[in-house]
Amino acid sequence: MIPPMPSAICLNTRIEDLHKFRIARLGDQLSHKLALALASHANKRNAAEATVEDLLNYLPMRYEDRSHPAAIRDLSDGLEASLELVVQRAHGYQVKKGYGRSRLFIFEVTAYDAARTGREVIVWWFVSGGRAYDIVKYYSEKLVAGTRFITFGRWEWNATKSTYKLQLHRPADELEILPSPDQGESTVDLGQSEENVSDPALAAIHVGRRVPVYRKLGPFNSKRVREIVHGVFANLDALAIEETLPADLLQRHRLIGRAQALHEIHFPPPDASMEDYELARSPAHARMIFEDFFWVTFALGLKRGRRAKETKGATLKIDKPVKNKIAAVLPFKLTAAQVKATREIFSDLRSTAPMNRLLQGDVGSGKTIVAAIAMIAAMENGMQTALMAPTEILAEQHARNIKRLLARTPYRVELLTGSLRAAEKRKLRVALQDGEIHACIGTHALVQEGVTFAKLGLAVIDEQHRFGVMQRAELRARGLNPDVLVMTATPIPRSLAMTVYGDLDVSVIDELPPGRTPIQTIVAGEDQRQDVKRLIEREVKAGHQVYVVYPLVEESEKVDLKDATRRYEYLRDVVFPKLRVGLLHGKMKPAEKEEVMRAFVAGEIKILVSTTVIEVGVDVPNASVMIVEHAERFGLSQLHQLRGRVGRGAKKSYCVLLTSDKKTAVAEERLGIMAKTSDGFVIAEKDLEIRGPGELLGTRQSGLPEFRIGNLVRDRELLESAKREAEFYLNKERSPVTAKLIERIRQDTRFELAAIG
Ligand code: ADP
Ligand code: MG
Repeated sequence: MIPPMPSAICLNTRIEDLHKFRIARLGDQLSHKLALALASHANKRNAAEATVEDLLNYLPMRYEDRSHPAAIRDLSDGLEASLELVVQRAHGYQVKKGYGRSRLFIFEVTAYDAARTGREVIVWWFVSGGRAYDIVKYYSEKLVAGTRFITFGRWEWNATKSTYKLQLHRPADELEILPSPDQGESTVDLGQSEENVSDPALAAIHVGRRVPVYRKLGPFNSKRVREIVHGVFANLDALAIEETLPADLLQRHRLIGRAQALHEIHFPPPDASMEDYELARSPAHARMIFEDFFWVTFALGLKRGRRAKETKGATLKIDKPVKNKIAAVLPFKLTAAQVKATREIFSDLRSTAPMNRLLQGDVGSGKTIVAAIAMIAAMENGMQTALMAPTEILAEQHARNIKRLLARTPYRVELLTGSLRAAEKRKLRVALQDGEIHACIGTHALVQEGVTFAKLGLAVIDEQHRFGVMQRAELRARGLNPDVLVMTATPIPRSLAMTVYGDLDVSVIDELPPGRTPIQTIVAGEDQRQDVKRLIEREVKAGHQVYVVYPLVEESEKVDLKDATRRYEYLRDVVFPKLRVGLLHGKMKPAEKEEVMRAFVAGEIKILVSTTVIEVGVDVPNASVMIVEHAERFGLSQLHQLRGRVGRGAKKSYCVLLTSDKKTAVAEERLGIMAKTSDGFVIAEKDLEIRGPGELLGTRQSGLPEFRIGNLVRDRELLESAKREAEFYLNKERSPVTAKLIERIRQDTRFELAAIG
């Protein structure tokens, strides 16, 4: 029996069922392939879960106005444009001999525009790899003389040929073969098989209008995605696209409806400004971006609100005697910013709701002492405290400092890391459980290895972004709902903080302790090594210490480690035979690491060669030179962190960024920024611009929400207003509109709010 044909498509129609609607030559096999590709793109578990909504959320990467295509006459050097052309001649030729993978071809198309407005132009690209020969053959067959195609890219004037040339980087995305008017679509798509059937009815989708251009989706090229999306809209019941944002919100921000936005983001209306589309500022963009941000800020706000209603074990009393105890151990006068942060933390500690506060402050701004003060306050109230650091070196340093700070108090401070011997760990666990340890400093091992506290009142987490999002649930699962203070030295741009840490309260230390001399940053090439050596000699002679840091990237860990080790031996034996040079890297045994760090802190080791294990938090005020090898391989935030290891005392400090000759333009830009500014917030904004939020925070594990289209740098203003709206509705707790929004977001698996009642 033939199953009845479903009447209309709606958003939750499964992609695997799309073939039942006879869309754009989509058979059941292709429907399945499309479902697979979309499932992977939308992070669905399997093909069966991919829906039409996922397809419509697969947004164009750009648009082309094919209603008025440019002509060869309009070209100028460096211009980005799409041109409709006709093949005059196309062929591939080998530029590098060899077999298999090492073969390299250039494929070159000479083409003219239909109206012959100028000399023929050249479109070309490289073809390499094991199948290069077949690919060249394939293109030669597809692009026979007379074939019409559209291509897009940056045109460059070539004086030798005295015409314009365009190099393609992904021809499958950047060149589209058009059906020719007389012969139907006999010259067909690049790389398609089953769907290479001519269908003049579809031709109109691709020419003479504004069209979306998509990234390749599984086996489907831009043109096929366009046909399918077009077909879906033709069969879609627009009324079945439910509006998700409140009507009054849409009005306030003059946003268009969801159904209209979804349609227009794919197919710009004929009167739309193409410039708005390119800048992601069309009405469709505004609506979709706003929606992206609204849901994220709403979800975070909701979480924060729920937390305010929780209660913790005990509220703390911070009175005169407690403050006196704190004052008695302080080694210096706090800066105004530290005082302010401390006040904010005290107010949280006194409240009945558990604290969830982010303490942001540039490297060296003195966050540790603020955390220590909070810990003392908690301990004075009879609570245990914990401080978690991302690396053992950092945990050890914190333990050392806090032990010293509390030396003359009755509090017992212990260090718990994963690398302790089992017997020692067991002893510490028992002591923690019995409440005998008052402050426990450690790595993530603190909350992982069957550790229970008798009475944990405060958990401090240092260098948060290294952990990913703090698992409050992890603590609560142990029967704890302590106050939590999260610290980060990666200044986080406000927009990012709002979305990633939107459920935290924030304190900022925006001032450095007095008496710091600015660090001089020098970008140097290989030819300046002698100068660098002299700088090291001079500084060591003056009694100061030096870091030499090597990048360590996972893919080439072994090679990098060898580099660092070899360099260490060279410095030790050849360059500075009279000085003590140390080596530190993550692969060393904990005891060895500890000994090296101790010797460096004590000033015995003068030059410390290290991988990036010292990147965060390490504090040796006597160090005055930071030399970064292969600086071009580091990101901005990392360089800023590394530079922050020096300049911690009153003496003048130096940061030398050594680069090889193979700098990219981006690396050059980064190094330039480093030389220009030392403001962590400026650097973080730049980093966000250059690398994007995922890279800045360490992608997935950062808990960064994924936006379909919202961009934290470009769309800052929309983010601000979306957040205001989210708060507006969250404050109207009893309104049915808010209830509906909450209901909706609880069903959205992205936000993991289902469990929140
Ligand atoms: P970070 O914020 O990067 O974690 P630290 O807490 O390690 O910075 O502090 C950096 C250095 O500044 C430490 O040596 C610390 O003792 C010192 N320091 C912090 N606060 C002050 C202050 N108010 N006055 C003088 N020195 C301070
Ligand atoms: Mg620190």
